[in-house]
Amino acid sequence: MAKIESVSVCIARVPLDNAVTFSTRTVTAREYCLVKVRSVDGVEGLGYCYAVNTSGRLLSVAVTDLLGARLVGQESLRVEGLWQEMYQEALLQGRVGAVMRALSGIDTAVWDLNARTAKLPLYKYLGAMVEDRVPAYASGGYYLPGKTPQKLGEELASYVKDGFKAVKMKTGRLSPREEEDRIRAAREAIGPDVLLMLDANNAWHDLPTALLHMNRLEAYDPHWIEEPFSPDDLDNHAKLAQRTRVTVATGEIEAGRWRFKEMLDKQAAGILQTDATVCGGISEWRRIAATAASYGVTVSPHAWHDVHVHLAASAPNARHVEFMPDDHIVNFRRLIDRQIVAKDGDLLLPQTPGLGFEFDKEAVRKYGTRAPGSDDVWQVVRRA
Ligand SMILES: [Mg+2]
Repeated sequence: MAKIESVSVCIARVPLDNAVTFSTRTVTAREYCLVKVRSVDGVEGLGYCYAVNTSGRLLSVAVTDLLGARLVGQESLRVEGLWQEMYQEALLQGRVGAVMRALSGIDTAVWDLNARTAKLPLYKYLGAMVEDRVPAYASGGYYLPGKTPQKLGEELASYVKDGFKAVKMKTGRLSPREEEDRIRAAREAIGPDVLLMLDANNAWHDLPTALLHMNRLEAYDPHWIEEPFSPDDLDNHAKLAQRTRVTVATGEIEAGRWRFKEMLDKQAAGILQTDATVCGGISEWRRIAATAASYGVTVSPHAWHDVHVHLAASAPNARHVEFMPDDHIVNFRRLIDRQIVAKDGDLLLPQTPGLGFEFDKEAVRKYGTRAPGSDDVWQVVRRA
């Protein structure tokens, strides 16, 4: 038993070395919401979520003013009860988006606290499927100035050379003919046997536009087409799924078990990319994965491999974890003290208690933002 003494939050703003472009936006810095839940025994559980370019403060206010106080003085093993109480507290402001991301960070930290208290790696505390590794794909293939199809192919081939058997690239920004040139170069560079995932980042506004692209790119045998439309446009996802032989994958910015059930009922996705740092934490991720299992659908979690290796290792219907091979595009790895190791296309599971890393104190001091008049990057919610 471990009573919760405090909940702390820090917004870290980490600039990118170079601006990076998606099909639909350009990013110059990333903000992360870091959460610590501390027990009266002095054990700290960690959680985090991505707070996009500039909106970190929205999430920290959700922790300090809305959710954190619900946990202080409570028993940390009462995970389901704490989740339900936070969800109920935020019913008018939450359910999806910034507040649900904050709730996700807190819920992850509660699980981590309990696993650390039990002195078990998180995936074993959750009930492991496997003991040492989970399959992954190398995620890259972004748009950069001067990046020709040939250079894109060389980048993806470098991941294959490093042992990956599956790679992902962006699509949807350029014309169908230009995108075909990129995808052809990618397939030729990686060979016929490597899985090639395509991520459109909500690029297409209607079915005819999507079909113009899909009709050209099907020939290169993509493993999935990811986020073809806005996440709210489930009907077009379902129509596209009927019209193409490529599996439609989505769900990385969706939250709550009910929306995922709707997605499954409409047959809008053949693979769910549920993200525990977005959907409502580890608790909600497991509920969604269990629902997907009953529909015979695989979950391939989006980004944040430091959390998702544990979930993929403990869910029977989880497959490839997304892995960013460097910190050029996603720079969260600068904020933690240990990195997951990739080997032969798999990610090796951490064997230390909990998530298996600590926040890097120096980095958090460097990148953490401070409230006006405060020297501390952490804001702490504790009993008055
Ligand atoms: Mg994506």
